[in-house]
Amino acid sequence: MKYQPTIGLEIHVELATKSKMFCSCLNDPDERHPNVNICPVCLGHPGTLPVINKEAVKKVIKTGIALNCQILEHSRFDRKNYFYPDLP
Ligand SMILES: [Zn+2]
Repeated sequence: MKYQPTIGLEIHVELATKSKMFCSCLNDPDERHPNVNICPVCLGHPGTLPVINKEAVKKVIKTGIALNCQILEHSRFDRKNYFYPDLP
């Protein structure tokens, strides 16, 4: 049996969007108080439905184009449904 290595990259970036990636909570990296800009969606409460931030998607695509990356016509992802204490 031959194996073909498949290597993926997980890249984290901080985008200058008005709201967070999956809800309408304010995205304020300068906020110094904990648990201010939160809601059930970004806390990952059961039954909440995240909605993707179109502004963030546009910025990511622009970044990909600027870096001469291949931009796929369609892509999909799954939101993590396990909880990290720092996830919110
Ligand atoms: Zn939120």
